[in-house]
Amino acid sequence: MKEQNDTTQNQEKAVLCATYSRYPLEIARGRGTKLYSPQGSEYTDLLAGIAVCALGHCHPEISAVIKEQSEILIHCSNLFYQTPQLELARALTRGCSLDRVFFCNSGAEANEAALKIARRFMQTVRTQEAFEIVTLEGSFHGRTLATLTATGQDKVKEGYAPLPPGFKTVPFADIEAIKAAVSNKTAAVLVEIIQGEGGVRCLSRDYLQEVQDLCRSQGCLFMVDEVQTGLGRTGKLWAHQHFDLRPDVLTTAKGLANGLPLGAMLVSQEVSQAFGPGSHATTFGGGPLVCAVGAKVLEIIDRDGLCRRAAEIGNEALEGFQELKRRFPDKIREVRGKGLMQGIELTFPGKGVWQELLNKGFICNVVQDHTLRILPPLTISREEISSFTRSLEEILTTI
Ligand SMILES: *Cc1c(COP(=O)(O)O)cnc(C)c1O
Repeated sequence: MKEQNDTTQNQEKAVLCATYSRYPLEIARGRGTKLYSPQGSEYTDLLAGIAVCALGHCHPEISAVIKEQSEILIHCSNLFYQTPQLELARALTRGCSLDRVFFCNSGAEANEAALKIARRFMQTVRTQEAFEIVTLEGSFHGRTLATLTATGQDKVKEGYAPLPPGFKTVPFADIEAIKAAVSNKTAAVLVEIIQGEGGVRCLSRDYLQEVQDLCRSQGCLFMVDEVQTGLGRTGKLWAHQHFDLRPDVLTTAKGLANGLPLGAMLVSQEVSQAFGPGSHATTFGGGPLVCAVGAKVLEIIDRDGLCRRAAEIGNEALEGFQELKRRFPDKIREVRGKGLMQGIELTFPGKGVWQELLNKGFICNVVQDHTLRILPPLTISREEISSFTRSLEEILTTI
């Protein structure tokens, strides 16, 4: 608790809704892979603002674009044409098999757009009575009423009844269960390629391909939530590209503007027919400032080979964690992940290990009580990963 700033902590209670159980740490600044407390203590950040600051904190080229674009045009509304949005849409559609983009401000909004376009596509393009959305247990899709209903975790739904109808949740990675759930009433299946908040749980190539085939044969949409897995995180620009999938709809957000709020839904040309003028909209989404930053993010990921880097460094990290699992089979149940999205599932609640890591200057987080999750900037060094692994080893030796 040494870095806790009592003043800030006590003062905010009087003015903020208590929606967060915050870590006992105040952050004053960041640079690259490091975060600093007001007292100047340095932390290696293996969380990156939950997969947001994928290029590291206050990346000089990002700060430069923010400065430059902020002196040209910050916002003008979606009533006008502007080139930063066009440029970013071009860059996004170049990087995958999808054709059209709708911009918004967050992951939840990107998924909300996906849920809406799925229903509208069925009603207006296919003229079918199909409206159900099928999602998986353990999934996380956001906090709006529709996206929390789609989310396969009861804890986010408590106290919000009645929830919107037309959602079904099926057991994780169970192909028979999803086959039983998908029918001619289904508008779409929405999955995370690797569940993030659900504990870094990976779906297999076979399962994903079967689900895609199921969607095609039933005539519903196959939608992937890449809000956390996207933009190089797993070692490819998009996680679904590991498995040669061709989703009809993809959502992205977290890393897209390296810390500024920006989300996007990408759809095939066919699905895009469901949205016409007035069918969906946003005031802020896709403004010139955030889009200029998004375009720079994609340029840097490509120019600096950050996808390949995430794959290589991620593999080395995974090997290091697997070695720890061999040394501490009674303490580590499983290590899993792809690229720089890794989970270390302990056999006991992870809070204590997490606190010890923080004491040693490493920031990660715990998901589903038992799993240490690491989502570092894609620019993290091999040395930083190995010193994290060594510190974790020390902690596991004594705990
Ligand atoms: C974080 C996350 C969301 C929600 O994003 P927000 O920007 O917090 O609304 C949705 N889906 C996945 C997979 C996420 O990781």
